[in-house]
Amino acid sequence: MEATSFVGRRYELAEAKRLLAAARLVTLTGPGGVGKTRLAARLAQQIARAFADGVWFVQLAAVQDDAIVPHAVADALGIRDEGDRPPLDVLVEHLAGRRLLLVLDNCEQVPDACATLIGTVLAATDGPRVLATSRHRLGLAEEHLLPVPPLRVPAQGTPLQQGDSDEFAALQLFADRAAAVVPGFAIGAENHAAVARLCRRLDGLPLAIEPRRADGRHPLQAAGHTRPRGRRRRRAGGGGRHKVAPGDKVLLSFTSCGRCGSCRAGYPAYCDTWLTRNLLSGLRDDGTPTVHRDGIAIGAHFFGQSSFAGHALADERAVVKVGIDADLAVLAPLSCGVLTGFGTMWNVLRPAAGSTLAVYGAGAVGLSAVMAARLLPLRAVVAVDRVPERLALAAELGATYTVDAATENVDARISEITGGRGVDHAVETSGDPTVLRTAVDALGIRGTCAVVGEPPAGTEVTLDVQGFMFGKRIVGVTLGDSEPETLLPVLVTLHRQGRLPLERLVRYYSLDELNAAAEDMHAGRVVKPVVRF
Ligand SMILES: [Zn+2]
Repeated sequence: MEATSFVGRRYELAEAKRLLAAARLVTLTGPGGVGKTRLAARLAQQIARAFADGVWFVQLAAVQDDAIVPHAVADALGIRDEGDRPPLDVLVEHLAGRRLLLVLDNCEQVPDACATLIGTVLAATDGPRVLATSRHRLGLAEEHLLPVPPLRVPAQGTPLQQGDSDEFAALQLFADRAAAVVPGFAIGAENHAAVARLCRRLDGLPLAIEPRRADGRHPLQAAGHTRPRGRRRRRAGGGGRHKVAPGDKVLLSFTSCGRCGSCRAGYPAYCDTWLTRNLLSGLRDDGTPTVHRDGIAIGAHFFGQSSFAGHALADERAVVKVGIDADLAVLAPLSCGVLTGFGTMWNVLRPAAGSTLAVYGAGAVGLSAVMAARLLPLRAVVAVDRVPERLALAAELGATYTVDAATENVDARISEITGGRGVDHAVETSGDPTVLRTAVDALGIRGTCAVVGEPPAGTEVTLDVQGFMFGKRIVGVTLGDSEPETLLPVLVTLHRQGRLPLERLVRYYSLDELNAAAEDMHAGRVVKPVVRF
């Protein structure tokens, strides 16, 4: 059983190793029974060789008294003679200078004593690292959190097909969203294939179809009604006040911690804990779930929100307030694809006047890059795609040249357009490594290629190294390296001024037309389907 379970924990294992390499205290958080202890044990086993003085496991599940904690740790470390001195002093003396990993399991039993002990040890020594497991964070400044989500297991009686495991998280997400709209909805034998097909068409992201209520009420308005009792209030913004009030209209984007180096420097798309917060954990910052069904925690909180539902619990950092007159239906695509395209142009590439650009892939992100480029004094904006309708739309939205990769030699056409120089900037949105290779080859001297499209994990690309030596750069970009709070209001303003024709990307569907929306998007008939319910 354990081997099977750990197939689903490879992300958490990798993330925990990364965190422990950089930080001295990592806390695995999550509800009781979720598997924190097993994950900690497996992790300790895998990284033991990195600690010359060993890994020491302290089980605190049975400890009820704060005063016992230092003794329990000393016992586990084999410290025999404690004398009359305070046990914490003895412990610090023993640990000083040692390169070891202390694993404190079940800290939620005695959280204050654990926090005191860990804080004292970290402050007084520089060698030891601590891996803690707890239902909730310990609240120390040095603490890095890794939420451990419930494992997603197939429903009974649903045979797993080849490839199902990769999309299972998506199926689970879909079921969660659907259950919020259709009480009692569950994935079973009769609808499993249909849901799997739909999720595949949505690139595994059920939220690719943007939710929005037809009556103009935003899900956040009612958050207080659905927040489980006894949970924490949302973290307050500056000065202890929330940045939104009941009745405000908001856009929801990704979330971030607000405390790590990247967040503090204004790069929340590169938050230290971005993956776990937005995609992997399905839990809040403090390790608690936002959604339960029949008393059982369900992984949700996708992008810090999970909003394909009538009501959503959202992280405050994922929320951006817009004007009360804003038309949320047309603004819905801003927070992901449009943010990515504009951010890539304005935050990352920042093209100089008179420079040239090629955009590979005329989907939502590529077309947004084209629209962003139209607002800059570029000499040439080249859109490359294989679908004539998309190229026509790209031309309408600001591309000065279009290249049909299905029928034309892309490299030769770009060379022709740029007088043999190659383009100064490229945006690769397709996620296809052969397209990335072309994009880099077609760059001119000191050209930069922004890689936005994401192929499956482990995908590699080959490059012509000599061709790359002329000052070329390749930069990976997540969500346009954007700070939603800064960029989204700018985009809303541009739209209001008529300079950002979002209407050209959007088509509306009712919830009954969900399948048609997915099919149209998959077939390239619509760029951004918006489902109104
Ligand atoms: Zn952060």
